Amino acid sequence: MSVDELMDFDEVIASYDPVLGLEVHVELNTASKMFCSCSTLFGADPNSQTCPVCLGLPGSLPVVNGKAVESSIRIGLALNCSIAQWCRFARKNYFYPDMTKNFQTSQYDEPLCFDGEVDIEVNQQRFTIPIERAHMEEDAGKSVHRGGTTGRILGADYSLMDYNRAGVPLVEIVTKPIFGTGADAPAVARAYVTFLRDMIRDLGVSDVRMEQGSLRCDANVSLMPKGSTTLGTRTETKNVNSLRSIEKALRYEICRQGAVLASGGRVIQETRHWHEDGGFTSPGRSKEQAEDYRYFPEPDLVPIAPSPQWIDELRQTIPDPPAVRQAALRDLWGFTELEMRDVVAAQALELIEATVQAGSPAHPARKWWMTQLARHANAAQIELDQLAISPQQVAEVQALIDQGVINDKVARSVIESVLDGEGNPGEIVQKQGLAVVSDSSLLQAAIDEVIAANPDVADKIRAGKVQAVGALIGSVMTAMSGKADAAKVREMIVASLS
Ligand code: ADP
Ligand code: MG
Ligand code: ZN
Repeated sequence: MSVDELMDFDEVIASYDPVLGLEVHVELNTASKMFCSCSTLFGADPNSQTCPVCLGLPGSLPVVNGKAVESSIRIGLALNCSIAQWCRFARKNYFYPDMTKNFQTSQYDEPLCFDGEVDIEVNQQRFTIPIERAHMEEDAGKSVHRGGTTGRILGADYSLMDYNRAGVPLVEIVTKPIFGTGADAPAVARAYVTFLRDMIRDLGVSDVRMEQGSLRCDANVSLMPKGSTTLGTRTETKNVNSLRSIEKALRYEICRQGAVLASGGRVIQETRHWHEDGGFTSPGRSKEQAEDYRYFPEPDLVPIAPSPQWIDELRQTIPDPPAVRQAALRDLWGFTELEMRDVVAAQALELIEATVQAGSPAHPARKWWMTQLARHANAAQIELDQLAISPQQVAEVQALIDQGVINDKVARSVIESVLDGEGNPGEIVQKQGLAVVSDSSLLQAAIDEVIAANPDVADKIRAGKVQAVGALIGSVMTAMSGKADAAKVREMIVASLS
């Protein structure tokens, strides 16, 4: 439960300007680790992907993964950063069980990529996000705490260590302080991380899955009294592992800091933990407890000196920014600007693209993701791509409609069944006998029965009141349990009555 005093968000914004600072960790999708040849595959048996190098055993020597350097440079270029012509790794010394070497190999004052900027859009307003640096480092292992109720170290009986993740390549992207976002601050942070996710996915260098931890965000924020130019004291909220929670956590911190300042208090510089369930932050380590990492250049690794030619070659491989790509897709698909904006906001772009790639026309693909499936995701409070249906399956449903095997109404129930884990659309249609009745004699029999049961309606139609057909179509569809092609039924009724 939250114990914090909170001030109304709009009230805070009326008196203070929020300043943001975002630190985003991206786990690269290289086949092997940063400094050894161990596999990086997610989900393997604990400690099955380790070796003397990533376990930091005495005498082992690291070697830099060239692909990881390439991916990092490409990320830097996409962020419009300068790329260092010469830079070194550094040891960040700390003692913790998730790091057997007792230091993390990172970069300190010589980052590979620095001084970039990217543009994002929120509420049709453009914001430029200044990038301080994008540097390479390695991930730590993972602690699993057993015996407690919360899964946290406090109250646990014992802890287990899994070093499969130790040494997996990371890029940390750090912004400069972001000013001037006002009430949009939480949305700007979300849009920026969304931009990073989409851009890095387009680069193909990471899975960028927040729920699996391959994209992680620490959100710093401080408040500056309006008109002031002196930065306020920031807090750094960790553990925010969805786009939604970035926005919520920042909103919370802004309201909390607002209340502290309004009551004449001082914001304490500390890390805070975001609690997804309760929707609040709680204090972590304060600055006074911060460690001295005693950074120094890594003596076991040669410096990185990417040649200008190589950087130029890599520059050729940088895709258009997401916004440019979106505009191109909008033209290709014939979506209106509003439709496209909704699609992007709902994070349905990739899903629609994949659905189209799997053979569906664009408009139906948009319709499925933005209506029925969006409702499901909303109700479950999850992202669209976490639904238990794939773009391929949506395309298959649409193909069944286009081939006349099922109609729209049946398609909706097929989608429900896919979401319930009953199999692929084709199988479901077969198992549940959902294919439309195309046997004309069966349809005709049902039509004859309905006409006989509704002689007055039939008379009206015979007399030329064609609108009355609707009532009969409904009855026929009911008789066929919805498994008929309504247009065909209409045709046959009219033919029967003329
Ligand atoms: P740390 O090592 O404490 O995480 P970093 O420099 O790596 O510090 O990251 C701090 C982040 O917060 C950066 O994005 C930085 O631009 C931003 N930042 C620094 N000072 C402030 C402030 N007063 N208010 C908001 N953000 C800040
Ligand atoms: Mg940091
Ligand atoms: Zn290894």
